[in-house]
This record gives sequence, structure tokens and C-alpha cells, in this order.
Amino acid sequence: MPEADVAVLVEQLLDQHPPYDTPPTEFFGARFDAGLAWVHYPVGCGGLGANPEQQRLVEELLGAAEAPSSYPLNPIGLGMVGPTIAHHGTDAQRARYLRPLYSAEEVWCQLFSEPGAGSDLASLATRAERDGGEWIVNGEKVWTSLGHKAAFGLLLARTDVDAPKNRGLTTFLVDMRTRGVEVRPLRQMTGHSEFNEVYFDDVRLPADAQLGPEGMGWQVATTTLMNERVSIGRVMATMASPAETAKHLFSKRGDRNPVLRDRVTRMWVESEIGRLITERAGQLGQTGDPGPVGSIGKLFGAEHALRVHNLVVDLLGPDAMLYPPFGVDGAPVEQAPQVNFLRSRANTIEGGTSEVMRNILAERVLGLPRDDHGPKDRPWKDIPRN
Ligand SMILES: Cc1cc2nc3c(=O)[nH]c(=O)nc-3n(C[C@H](O)[C@H](O)[C@H](O)COP(=O)(O)OP(=O)(O)OC[C@H]3O[C@@H](n4cnc5c(N)ncnc54)[C@H](O)[C@@H]3O)c2cc1C
Repeated sequence: MPEADVAVLVEQLLDQHPPYDTPPTEFFGARFDAGLAWVHYPVGCGGLGANPEQQRLVEELLGAAEAPSSYPLNPIGLGMVGPTIAHHGTDAQRARYLRPLYSAEEVWCQLFSEPGAGSDLASLATRAERDGGEWIVNGEKVWTSLGHKAAFGLLLARTDVDAPKNRGLTTFLVDMRTRGVEVRPLRQMTGHSEFNEVYFDDVRLPADAQLGPEGMGWQVATTTLMNERVSIGRVMATMASPAETAKHLFSKRGDRNPVLRDRVTRMWVESEIGRLITERAGQLGQTGDPGPVGSIGKLFGAEHALRVHNLVVDLLGPDAMLYPPFGVDGAPVEQAPQVNFLRSRANTIEGGTSEVMRNILAERVLGLPRDDHGPKDRPWKDIPRN
């Protein structure tokens, strides 16, 4: 589709649904119906079957019109689950889930990590067993961001204990209101409660909850994980730039300390590099497969976050010890630099740790010998577990 036609569609959307006079949910739905959610997806799935590069034009035009974005309301849904359903789902699953996911009427969470399976995700133990036409799920997930708000979760579970660890997995779309699903919030050191433990106790899932073929869950999850890295990089890039905060604090101090000035300048340069990597990864991600650039952006962004938040705290001096007060929900009332400093620690863990990102880059980009994962064909049930 020519760019001019895409621009006309954006114009029509803005004419018929002026952002300032349209409730956000209605606007998001209309954007999906116009094929402007993800232009490269098929018609009817929020797209136009167009070139993914045209998404940038859509974002620019809608940004200029100050149209709202549903991304912050449903980051896991839009950033990770949407691309996974679009890629691996049946027509019926795409028709059922993508629109309310995009409009954030149905928030999603990712049910992958377990207490004994984070970096080595393929070793996970949550079981899904066939029972007639249904599945019965038992097990425990942890770190489930937004689990307390989610209507649905993307679950990775073990369906074959005799297969090697990453061949016996299957992915499911789980209604979080199903009987036997229990969500228990966890509180983190910032005071916020972003993630949860989720328990499955004889949870019955219908046959059509299965996403992708049985035993192919690892392939499905790989789509999710690659998009997750891009998505996290994107969230980090859209947050108020801590390098700007550092620049502001340094100017306010009014001193000419050359060491601090050097650190501020370095952090500003790093943050620009991070922005450009994220932009490139985002563009590649629109084709559905961001490749290793997502891991580069994730690693760079997470390590930069530690350095730049350390600098902000150094610049604050003794004021850095003044943590904002806690509200009735137990979370700090203000997103102060002190809170961001503590939260930045999580950047090197969420979506795959920095060590794991280095392993991926070493193996896939540099072609170095593979990390030792033990015998490849050993059945999961014979692998020693904690
Ligand atoms: C804020 C936040 C939100 C999250 N949200 C979600 C979510 O919504 N859904 C979800 O499923 N998960 C989520 N996670 C979980 C996240 O994906 C895992 O924490 C992460 O993959 C690491 O797993 P782990 O915590 O079990 O650590 P482990 O895997 O036990 O790792 C412990 C340490 O060992 C290192 N290590 C492990 N293996 C290797 C190796 N092969 N080589 C070198 N070093 C290694 C790690 O780098 C780490 O330092 C979230 C995590 C955080 C922090």
C-alpha cells in the first residue's frame, strides 16, 4: 500500500474519532479496525498487510495529533502476546483476542518463569495433562508482572515429561478467572507491587486454549521472548531520560567538577546510543523477528540504566537518602529518582538477565562455543532438579 494511502487512513481515523473527544478505549478500537494498530498484520487483525516500515508514519502522524496509546495500559499484551498470537494463533484465536488486547480492554500477563526456571526457562515444571478434550494444569509461576490486573495470561507448560526439556512444552491462552488460578501479589524493594506468584490447582483449560502445536511451545515462547527484549528496551527508552535528570542536577549544582561533567556527558552519549539501538530493534521487531538486536538493546539499556541512575544518586548527594513517603497502597507516592534508582536493578534481570544476554550474543552473533546445557536428548524427567 502506498504511504499516501496510509496517511489518508490516519487522517480519516482522526476526523471520525478526534482524540480529545473520543474515550480512549473507543479510539484504540477504531484504530485497530482501521488497520492502523500494526500495519503489517493481515486485514481484520489490526493491520493492512502493508510494509512494516509504514508503522513509523502512523506513529508520527498520531503522535503529532497527540492521540493516546494503549501500550502503557497493556505493555505485555501489545509488546509480547499480540505478536505471538498473530504469528502462531489460529484465525479464530486472532479474531477473539487481538482487538480487546489492542484496546487494553483485556490486559495480558506472561506466565513463563517459575521458582526453579528463570534463565533456564526450558526446564520448567508446571504440568498440563490431557483429560479428554481438555487440559488440566498444575504448578506455580512467579514474577508474573500485571498478573493481578490481567484478564488473560500466556502460559508455557510441560505436556511431555519424556521429551527433552525444550521439546515437551506447549503454550496456552489462559483466562485468569478460571477456577483454580490463584494470584498472590509480591512487594518489591521500591515499595511497588508490580508482579505476583500465580498458582494453578487443577485448572481446566478447553482445547482451544492451546496456542500452536502440542510440543512446540518453545518455538512459540521464542517469538514472545524476542519481542519482550525489544519491548523492554522500548519502555526504558520512553521513560523520562535519567541522563536529562543528571544534566539538570549537574547544572543546578553550579560547580565545575570535571570528573562529574565527564560522567554526565558520557551518560548522555550512552543514552543516545541506547535510543538508536532501540529504534532499530523496534523497526526490525515490526517484521515479527527482531533477531539479536533486541538482545543488544536489552543488555545495553539495562547496564546503562545502572550507571546513569548511580550518577543521578551521586549528584543528589545527601538528598538521595530522602525516599518519598508511602501511600495507602504501600507504594511511594512519587516516581522520584531514588525510586528509579532502586527499580533500575530489575532491568538487568527482567526479560532475561544481562549474563544470559551476553550468552545469546556470544553464541548467535560472535559464533563462540555454546554454553554447556548438558546432553541434548536427555528426557526432562531424568534431568536432576532442585
Ligand atoms: C521486574 C521483573 C518482572 C518480571 N516479569 C516477568 C513476567 O511477567 N513473566 C515471567 O514469566 N517472568 C518475569 N520475570 C522473570 C525474569 O524473566 C527472570 O527473573 C529472569 O529470567 C531470571 O531468572 P531467575 O530470576 O530465575 O534467575 P536465575 O535464572 O536463577 O539466575 C540467577 C543468576 O544466575 C545467572 N545465570 C543463570 N544462568 C546462567 C548462565 N547460563 N550463564 C551465566 N549466568 C547465568 C543469572 O544471570 C543470575 O545472575 C520478571 C523479572 C523481573 C525482575
